[in-house]
Amino acid sequence: MKKFAIAIHGGAGTILRSSMTPEKELQYTKGLEEAILAGELVLSKGGNAIDAVETAIRSLEDNPLFNAGRGAVFNHEGKNEMDASIMEGKTLLAGAVTGIKNIKNPITLARTVMDKSEHVFLSGLGAMEFAEKMKLEFANDEYFFVQLRYDQLLQAQKSDTILLDHNEIYTPANSRKGTVGCVALDLFGNLAAGTSTGGMTNKKYGRVGDSPMIGAGTYANNKTCAVSCTGHGEYFIRSVVAYDISCLMEYKGFSLKEACDLVVYKKLVDIRGEGGLIALDSNGNIELPYNSEGMYRAKKSSDSPLYIGIYKD
Ligand code: ASP
Repeated sequence: MKKFAIAIHGGAGTILRSSMTPEKELQYTKGLEEAILAGELVLSKGGNAIDAVETAIRSLEDNPLFNAGRGAVFNHEGKNEMDASIMEGKTLLAGAVTGIKNIKNPITLARTVMDKSEHVFLSGLGAMEFAEKMKLEFANDEYFFVQLRYDQLLQAQKSDTILLDHNEIYTPANSRKGTVGCVALDLFGNLAAGTSTGGMTNKKYGRVGDSPMIGAGTYANNKTCAVSCTGHGEYFIRSVVAYDISCLMEYKGFSLKEACDLVVYKKLVDIRGEGGLIALDSNGNIELPYNSEGMYRAKKSSDSPLYIGIYKD
């Protein structure tokens, strides 16, 4: 029987029930619900997985609560410098951008790179020039200004640390992560994945994380699975996390769960890589593993109800 499925994340890290107010929890839950329902609507109407991914991520990017688009963290220079990537499982087509500023929806720029350029990965000024040429929507610095993010930058600058998002206590060892992502399976059996982020607060030297890297933070292949990651990017790059999960399925015959468990709870943990991911296989099985204290996450399919989670269950 044909089915569709979708999962999203809004970042993993030290997300503790004890440090959340009921109002904040409700806002996050609402943000996740809105995004997943927007993506689900695309799928339930017979739309493509790639459109569902872009739609859900745009909703999360427009929400200042999440470290992507509007809520992107500040880099060392006090700018919002964003990364995004998207991939289609049927064709293995992909698009990605890094170090972009003032683009309202980075995921749409990544999608446009995939659809309308002969390249996969564009960076900085060149990517923005392309966005202008493609008539993408720009937004001024005020649009991206979120006081909480700015306070995080000031704290990080004071202690000269580079921080992942969702920090409660500002030390690198006890940091929380941000970023948004989506994986989807449409009624035609096609998978897609996408990830969008502001990266790390106070990042310097043009630092790039895993989120815009195809194979590290994002991967989709109809033969295996679709994956979007969140966490300490350096470790996810070194572990080529998203592609590793696909490889374990393709070459070793692992199930989605076996592959996710090995990568998130063993391989990443062995090198102290903190974070999590969302993954979906072509049968509609969904996994939401994370080795941090929590992960903003949601899933829904044509035959299972909406699930939203924040903390460790
Ligand atoms: N993975 C992202 C990065 O390292 C951050 C995150 O997921 O919070 O840029």
